[in-house]
Amino acid sequence: MGALATVDADKRDVIVSRNPLTGAVLGELRESTAVEIRDAVSRARGAQGAWGKLSVKERCSRVARFRDAVVARAEELCDLISAETGKTPAEALSMEVMVIADLATYFIKRAPKILAPESISLHLLKNRGSYLHFQPRGVVGIISPWNFPFGIATGEVIMALLAGNGVVLKPSEVTPLIALKTKELYDASGMPTELFQVVPGRGPAGAALIDSGIDYCIFTGSTATGKKVGAACGERLIPVALELGGKAPAIVCADADLDRTAKALVWGAFANQGQVCVSVERVYAHQAVHDELVQKICAEVDKLRPNDDTGSMTWERQTEIVEERIASAVAAGAKVRTGGKRRGTGLAFAPTVLTECRQDMDVMRKEIFGPVMPIMKVRDEEEAMTLANDSQLGLMGYVFTADRQKGKRLAEKLETGTAMVNDCLLTFGAPETPWGGVKQSGVGVTHSAHGLRDLCQSRHVNYDRIALKKELWWYPYSDKVYKQTLKMMRWIFR
Ligand code: NDP
Repeated sequence: MGALATVDADKRDVIVSRNPLTGAVLGELRESTAVEIRDAVSRARGAQGAWGKLSVKERCSRVARFRDAVVARAEELCDLISAETGKTPAEALSMEVMVIADLATYFIKRAPKILAPESISLHLLKNRGSYLHFQPRGVVGIISPWNFPFGIATGEVIMALLAGNGVVLKPSEVTPLIALKTKELYDASGMPTELFQVVPGRGPAGAALIDSGIDYCIFTGSTATGKKVGAACGERLIPVALELGGKAPAIVCADADLDRTAKALVWGAFANQGQVCVSVERVYAHQAVHDELVQKICAEVDKLRPNDDTGSMTWERQTEIVEERIASAVAAGAKVRTGGKRRGTGLAFAPTVLTECRQDMDVMRKEIFGPVMPIMKVRDEEEAMTLANDSQLGLMGYVFTADRQKGKRLAEKLETGTAMVNDCLLTFGAPETPWGGVKQSGVGVTHSAHGLRDLCQSRHVNYDRIALKKELWWYPYSDKVYKQTLKMMRWIFR
């Protein structure tokens, strides 16, 4: 692949990790070369042989030591996550470290059952039996983004290990130190060192990883890069899960509890400075409650304390995109009700509420990935639903209503991988629920029993429960058998 040339040893570049709040350099490291990445995959494969042969229960008890190391060194992790991403320590703990401690514990307890052979009852061939058994895929390549550099990547690493795989992780160039810290904790917990490797690098390093003989790929990132990754995996017939961009709509019905809704939307739009793939990115508010809702949302935003509640954005380029989206919305007639600009000279951005938005504005159609909540007044719930589904993206959607049944009905109509009623964001932290999008938000799921099984090859065994001397459909064919089969078919499908 052409991309590999850019990570040749003599040309490789230095990656500098900076604190986005202060600009201070946190560390410098060299980009991995294509040769190093291939070597990492081959070493992970070497270690996977023995690891994959352990019982699932044994793997669980060993991965538990890694989980224990994460829990024991949680403050150190939170400090680094906060320094490298700019998020508050509270968010580093609740949205990343705690999520991983819980996900690990959940799957450590349940993986033996989820990955146990599953029998299939055959509806016709009663003399035979079938079952599925779940075998490790080999080496899983994980390519991850910078917004939850610990919470996303480490969950995938843990699940892949429990499924019996080796893992090679290519973290985002924006947040490489967290991945290296994860590896440090992993090594310190006594897990087989070679089994899990980290290969820091930029985009071409991700491309090189796909070209290094991996057996499965989990990619989390933008839809644009996801398409390239999907194509590269398709060319090599590598199965892939693509967790891509979002443009989560929130429908606020006329009967919604506006105090709760305002608080939920403010958290849903501004947590992690809006750099969440399922952030509330557009609100459709029923005309009967629109004005009061806007008032309550702005009052909630006023209460947010810079640095305690809201941290900093992580990446200069993303901050510029946010500025572009706001400027184009304002030029098209949107009103800034609060925020609209950076706080100070760094990347911290004021939580921004826009009203008088229209569906044709970029701010309502393209991913923002920053702390901006565009609000549009709608005639009724039907119009809200039509507009909510008028999107290429379908990761997450929200409905706010006092009527639970109506909430579920509307949630089912949302064309999104997950729809929540009366809350936001939360289900990433519920490891038993599937995480994945529809439309251009992705392919496949991570988390949940399905996500764990996807990290295995599902293989089918069919065997004879009762051995007959001869089957009806074997040679020699004859008129007699033809007639018997016809009669039998007519009787079965009568
Ligand atoms: P990118 O798509 O820019 O990058 C994602 C990862 O892919 C990074 O590690 C990146 O490396 C790497 N990469 C870049 N080019 C290639 C390539 N050609 N081949 C292989 N890998 C490559 O996304 P961001 O990091 O900017 O993340 C933000 C996006 O991620 C948003 O769209 C957001 O919605 C989405 N996202 C989706 C989630 C989900 O679960 N659905 C969760 C979180 C985020 P590098 O950074 O070094 O360039």
